[in-house]
Amino acid sequence: MTPNAQLLRDVFGFDGFRLGQQEIVETVAAGENVLAIMPTGGGKSLCYQFPALIRDGLTVVISPLIALMRDQVRALQEIGVAAGALTSGNTQEETDAVFASLDAGTLKLLYIAPERLASGAMLSALRRYNVGMIAVDEAHCVSQWGHDFRPDYLRIGDLRRALNVPISAFTATADAETQIEIVNRLFDGKQPRTFLRGFDRPNIHLAFSAKDSPRQQILDFADERRGRSGIVYCGTRAKTEGIARALSDVGHSACFYHGGMEADARREVEKRFAVEDGLIVVATVAFGMGVDKPDIRWVAHADLPKSIEAYYQEIGRAGRDGAAAETMTLFGPDDIRLRRSQIDEGLAPADRRDADHGRLNALLGLAEALSCRRQTLLGYFGESSGPCGNCDLCDAPPEVFDGTQPVRMALSAILRTKEMFGAGHLIDILQGKDTEKVRSNGHETLPTFGVGKDLLKTQWQAVFRQMMGHDLIRPDAERHGALRMTDDALPILRDEAKITLRKDSIRAAAKRRPAVKTLVNDEDAPLLSALKAKRRFLAETASVPAYIIFNDRTLIEMAEKRPQSLDDMMQISGIGAKKLESYGDAFLSVILGDTAPDMHPTRRKLAGRAGASLYDRLLEVQSELAHGSTGIDKPLSCSASILAKVATQRPKDMTSLVRILGDKRAERFGNAFLDVLKEASP
Ligand code: ADP
Ligand code: ZN
Repeated sequence: MTPNAQLLRDVFGFDGFRLGQQEIVETVAAGENVLAIMPTGGGKSLCYQFPALIRDGLTVVISPLIALMRDQVRALQEIGVAAGALTSGNTQEETDAVFASLDAGTLKLLYIAPERLASGAMLSALRRYNVGMIAVDEAHCVSQWGHDFRPDYLRIGDLRRALNVPISAFTATADAETQIEIVNRLFDGKQPRTFLRGFDRPNIHLAFSAKDSPRQQILDFADERRGRSGIVYCGTRAKTEGIARALSDVGHSACFYHGGMEADARREVEKRFAVEDGLIVVATVAFGMGVDKPDIRWVAHADLPKSIEAYYQEIGRAGRDGAAAETMTLFGPDDIRLRRSQIDEGLAPADRRDADHGRLNALLGLAEALSCRRQTLLGYFGESSGPCGNCDLCDAPPEVFDGTQPVRMALSAILRTKEMFGAGHLIDILQGKDTEKVRSNGHETLPTFGVGKDLLKTQWQAVFRQMMGHDLIRPDAERHGALRMTDDALPILRDEAKITLRKDSIRAAAKRRPAVKTLVNDEDAPLLSALKAKRRFLAETASVPAYIIFNDRTLIEMAEKRPQSLDDMMQISGIGAKKLESYGDAFLSVILGDTAPDMHPTRRKLAGRAGASLYDRLLEVQSELAHGSTGIDKPLSCSASILAKVATQRPKDMTSLVRILGDKRAERFGNAFLDVLKEASP
């Protein structure tokens, strides 16, 4: 193993770097300026935490949210890394402890809240310590045009100039304007080494459903995932409260969250969500950047998000630990109407509004897609890929039909009524319904009256919704949502283009509800819940979030591989030396029942390393010779630390063995040990 791989294994418990991580780690470690754009859950933190361990001196980390900083620091301390934070949330003792380890020169990572940079005292304090580099998390917070703008981030440039050290900056926001701002404000306009990592999140299952009875659809979805942490995103504050209540009524643990709540109440929800297993938060998009929980198992949208970027960001909160996660997004004509009017009535200049319509169109295209959703989604971000096998359309391809004829009928009805009406009335005309409104407008005389009798009302609704989704028609905000034809519809109207539509996806979806994905197979499920119960107990005892102990992915691997010893345990992803020491026994005894063997602490330190099996073999030989080769000599043995020394230093001859064992022990065990060592050497 390379030294880096060994460190990754021992400290972080990871078997390897993820896609793209290694390059970034090496570049940061080499002391270059770096800008890395990685999707949420891609593993940004490791890209500065790892270099911080192998570089000289202190790494200063700027991060926008106090709660997240405290979590990260706690997680680092759990794996035995000297880390501390200076935030307004600190107690005096915590602050004293941080300064003590700064003075002692032992601290490797110091997290600082950006507002701390405002004080000159902070700058001059930092100059006294041996700062080797600065890492900036959520670097897009320097962008004045983004919604996460933090004025204090503008001071990071001063900090860099004052300390004269390299900066590495990380963000999940990829658009070009933001990148330029980051380069200007953090790197004085000099382009750093830039890494753009792919956007795919293969562990997240993608699905959309047309709204039928939306509240019930959300309740069903949550029911099938009972006991797993999830988020339900809603379009309005009122709805968050209603759905949270409905979920609680049927026995879920659920609460709501929106921007209209007191800051304290919001923090309370954030804290509960981090710590509790299986809590559902029903929220507006205000529940966002502060959500750093890696084991969110599902995200549902009760209403359509505002753009494809927003969709990607919101579903991206699920499954950051890499274990399977599921999403479902509901949408209907009302959503489209609402989102369009929000854009039209907003204050943005005209070209911005056009761009916003475009981003909404991209999302609607995804909602009405006819084949693999991930392909469509990644295609939007400029990545090509094959069908993913992990979306609703790959699970079951939709039934489609040639919709050209009905679409032309609908367009004709719209034009002949002067683009003055909404879908309800237009469908009445197409179906030839004799209503008050039809008669008072004289619409029964139109040539389109009754031409659409072949389709049911629900089928017409699906046609209109898909026409909106393909941006063939748009609700006109100035005319109370009357539908207007767009230029995109002209080729179809003129019979120059055809269009394929999905059969009424509402009925189809109800018929073939796909099986819920389980995290492990039936056989391993009881063990997984036992392991989770142990984790919950340990987390509650230490009052930390469960994932600080181990994340879901680690527990799933444990349930599947069932390690039988601490050595096996060390092979599980997410378990490094420190966590093995803290929690190995507790989880091993869950797996083995009461039969977990005792292990000497010295031997424990070798767990999972090359010396471990050698140590065990030496111990075996030693106990065979405890009373000498004759079996009647005075008992003699070597201490655990002597055995560990032999196992790790692997002396090649008697002289060097005597140096470790001393004469008396060398006489009894020397030859046998040398044999063991010879057997073991490659
Ligand atoms: P980001 O900040 O990019 O959203 P994080 O740094 O929080 O993502 O990492 C997301 C999750 O992935 C964490 O649970 C982390 O422990 C895990 N992780 C990161 N790198 C690796 C790796 N090389 N192997 C396994 N798990 C990893
Ligand atoms: Zn797919």
